[in-house]
Amino acid sequence: MADLYRHRGLRKALVDGLRNKGIDDERILQAIMNIPRHLFLDKAFADWAYKDVPFPIGHEQTISQPFTVAFQTKLLEVKAKDKILEIGTGSGYQACVLVEMGAKVYTIERVEALFHKTNKLLQELGYGMVRTFLKDGFEGLPRFAPFDKILVTCGATAIPQSLKDQLKIGGYMVIPVGQGETQEMIRLTRLSETEFQKETFGLFRFVPFLKGLEKLH
Ligand code: SAH
Repeated sequence: MADLYRHRGLRKALVDGLRNKGIDDERILQAIMNIPRHLFLDKAFADWAYKDVPFPIGHEQTISQPFTVAFQTKLLEVKAKDKILEIGTGSGYQACVLVEMGAKVYTIERVEALFHKTNKLLQELGYGMVRTFLKDGFEGLPRFAPFDKILVTCGATAIPQSLKDQLKIGGYMVIPVGQGETQEMIRLTRLSETEFQKETFGLFRFVPFLKGLEKLH
């Protein structure tokens, strides 16, 4: 699959745009520079990959806007070797950003067709180290818990207790929460076994965090 000089030029322009929008962590910008985002979209839409917009990836799902990916990643304060759980694999792009920053990534998707398609792409692009799971994200991954960081990339109506339980003390969960069309970006810090501190970071628009699996017919 081709990553051409032209694509790298478009990526550079995207990165400069993100820097102007306040993304100042060079490790995040470098990760975005390294990943051929156009290969995460269907071929016909490759030119859309380097605009700072969300885009449909089929099955009523979207690849998040690059700014949103960068913003959530910034809130996570990713360190090399961090063990991170992502809810909502989608295209796999966000998981690759975390891998590029040295994290060990576990990611859950509920739509079976998307899970298979993304698994194949991750293998082809050399990101086979991402651990992917076809599961309901509400359950998290108790077998692999606790996690240093948890990142939810779909819009929740509340913070699931199961995910709070799977966060390390001192760890962060970044999760968009809202009742309507938009969600407030929340960062939860686990202070102790029972105490959590909450910070909010403005409104975003995500596809919904839905219960249960969507199986292939
Ligand atoms: N991180 C993705 C963004 C995907 S959009 C990317 O980089 O492309 C959000 C994804 O969350 C969708 O693929 C949707 O199917 C998934 N999702 C929604 N509810 C879920 C649940 N309960 N468990 C796992 N994934 C879920």
